[in-house]
Amino acid sequence: MSDQPSVSDTPESGAVASDPATGRSHDPATGHPRPPRREFKARGSFVVRCPGCNLPELNCLCPYRVEAQSVARVWLLTHPLEHHKPTNTGRLIRDVLPDTQVFTWYRTAPDPGLLALLDDPRYAPFVIFPDDQPDYADRVVSIEAVTETRVAGRIPVYLLLDGTWRQVRRIFRRSPYLDAFPVLPLHARRETRYRLRKPASSEHLCTAEVAAELLNQGGDADAARVLDDYFDAFNDSYAASRRFEKIAAPTPAMQRLMARRGA
Ligand SMILES: [Zn+2]
Repeated sequence: MSDQPSVSDTPESGAVASDPATGRSHDPATGHPRPPRREFKARGSFVVRCPGCNLPELNCLCPYRVEAQSVARVWLLTHPLEHHKPTNTGRLIRDVLPDTQVFTWYRTAPDPGLLALLDDPRYAPFVIFPDDQPDYADRVVSIEAVTETRVAGRIPVYLLLDGTWRQVRRIFRRSPYLDAFPVLPLHARRETRYRLRKPASSEHLCTAEVAAELLNQGGDADAARVLDDYFDAFNDSYAASRRFEKIAAPTPAMQRLMARRGA
C-alpha cells in the first residue's frame, strides 16, 4: 500500500534486437552493429520483457514462481494508475497466493465483485491503513483481531490499498463502502528492502512486503516466508537487469524457491 511514485519505467519499444549490455542493435542483414537508438537514454525503453513475469528477460522471475497456502486472504484495491507499472509488487502476492483478488479502484463506481465479497459473511475484511488520524480511531484494531477471527471460523482478509501514498489516502477517504470495516495498521519492525522505487522513508514498505508482514503476524508464517523470498527474487532480478547485469548464481532466496518448486 505504500509504493512510492514510480521511477519511470518506460514500456518496451520495438528495439528488440538491441543488446542490453551496449544498447546497440545489429543490422540483421550484415550483423554489423548499429549506433545506439536515440531512446537508449530513456531507461527501459529497449528492454525485452518476459511475457510470463513481465520482468526484463535478462533476469526472468518465472523459475522462482511458487505457490503457498494461507488461512488469511489478500484482496488488493489498486489505483488504476498503478496496475500496469512493472515495478508494482501487488502482483507478486497473487503469484504466491492464487486466491488473491485484485480490484481496480474507481472513485465513482465501486467494483460490484468487491462489494459482493465485502457482503459475504465467510470473510472478515480488515482495511490496512495507518492509525494516524483521529476521525476513524474507533475502527482501529490490532493484529489480535485477526487471530480472533480465525478462532471464530471466519476467513480474515487483508484489504490492501495499492498505490502511491497519495493514491492510497484518496482510496481510503473516498470509498464509503469501506467505512463499516475495521482498520488494521501494520506495525512492522523491518525496513524496506525494495530497491526499485525511492521510498519516503526506510519504514515505508511496498505492497508485497506489507502482505508478507501481515501474513507472518497473523499466523500464516509459511506463506509469509515464500512471499518474502519471491519478493527478494523479484527485487534482485529487476535491480540487476537495470544495471544490465545477468545474475550469475541464484541468491539464497532463489535457491529456497527452486527447492520448493522441485519438492
Ligand atoms: Zn519470466
